[in-house]
Amino acid sequence: MKRWQLDYRRGLRWLSRHRPLRAMHYFERALMHIPTARGRSSLSLRRDLARLFYFFAVALRQVGLRNRSVASLVEASRLYKRGCARAGLFHAVNRYGMARQPTPEHDDQQAFYGIQLAHYVRSKQSHRLGTRAEIDMVSELIDEYWAEIRRLDLASMSSVEKCRLFSDTMIVFPFITVPNALKTDDLIVDFRSGRRADPHDRCTCGSGLPVCLCHGRIPGIDEVLVGLF
Ligand SMILES: [Zn+2]
Repeated sequence: MKRWQLDYRRGLRWLSRHRPLRAMHYFERALMHIPTARGRSSLSLRRDLARLFYFFAVALRQVGLRNRSVASLVEASRLYKRGCARAGLFHAVNRYGMARQPTPEHDDQQAFYGIQLAHYVRSKQSHRLGTRAEIDMVSELIDEYWAEIRRLDLASMSSVEKCRLFSDTMIVFPFITVPNALKTDDLIVDFRSGRRADPHDRCTCGSGLPVCLCHGRIPGIDEVLVGLF
């Protein structure tokens, strides 16, 4: 048995014993050592990799990293379109393509937070959040803007309109020297039709998923904290 397969099985064993943190450790190791799946002959490998991402998503969800769990389900769905990950993905997400929250207002707040935090992190050279103090400073600033935005009649707006509003809200963060670099990386254009892709159109990468669940996803806080690529 190959090394990644051993780690995968160990991960499954810990998952079945309700020890998701240990399971995550072995799944991560398996992901590091699994060969990359390319070409038609590697269909079974793609399916194995999709399963690995699926169970990794289960473990992430159990430890409360729900947006990272969604990201892992997206990976699994891209690799193997007929797997159970796709059904799990549609069950786990809200209209923003983020982990579902207890109320629609929480969904809106998380979407605003995710969009603004991603703008901030992408405008930094390191693409990472640094100290706890920096995270607190950025969070407080986003909270202040959210207090204004939530007074608007959000309930009457569609998720597309709200995304545009959240994305167009320019927060002036301290220490950012290149404000013009903001937002441009969020555009996904369908080159066949020559227009900007709607979040509910199919993604142009061929995954068969809507844009808002694929390359146009809003990252959650737990994803931004581990680094955006
Ligand atoms: Zn895509």
